[in-house]
Amino acid sequence: MRVETFKKCVYIVLFLLIALFFTKDIDFFGEKFYKNIKEVTNPESLVVLVNKNNRLKEDYVPLNLEKIDLAFATEEKYLRKEAREKFEQLSQDAKNLNYKIIATSAYRGYEYQEKLHHYYKETKGVEYADLCSARPGHSEHQTGLSVDVTGSNQDYNLFEETPEFVWMQKHAHEYGFILRYPQGKEKITGFKYEPWHYRYVGEEVAKIIYENNWTLEEYLKNR
Ligand SMILES: [Zn+2]
Repeated sequence: MRVETFKKCVYIVLFLLIALFFTKDIDFFGEKFYKNIKEVTNPESLVVLVNKNNRLKEDYVPLNLEKIDLAFATEEKYLRKEAREKFEQLSQDAKNLNYKIIATSAYRGYEYQEKLHHYYKETKGVEYADLCSARPGHSEHQTGLSVDVTGSNQDYNLFEETPEFVWMQKHAHEYGFILRYPQGKEKITGFKYEPWHYRYVGEEVAKIIYENNWTLEEYLKNR
């Protein structure tokens, strides 16, 4: 082999090694999701991690579910005591400013999630179902700490277009809530951007996540 050719080969190999180093943590095709699934061992923790790699038991039901005041929910909805109190406070404060933040989905049991995911799978295929909903046991709604909200246009899908969304971006963390699936973090959370889905983690943690522009996954990795 000529010296020049040998040098070229060395450069190419070096380049490939460097490229590999910088991309090894990037999950280009979402292959890490629904693989190496762990069972959640701290379901009652306020920072419990439930996602496509961490699953709640089929029979897990939070201990202290309480009904959200019907002034702040579309119908009978439940959250864990801490989350319910803070959500009502948030909605009341928003109402005092002439905003309307209403819970449209809160606690969802394993069986409900199973039906929901199955419905999407049957009608639109498994890829769509996984993009738009969690498989049973993998939904944060089973923790009783998550809430989907609507604003003045009463459509959670269009919550981003409401003044309530702007208000939530600034103030949700003051009540212990975080925007759980932010835009641009899909590769970390495993879920598409959901401007309507908020998760209660307590005020202290919510403030840290807000200030660092993190997801719950990033908080747990960096704390
Ligand atoms: Zn949700």
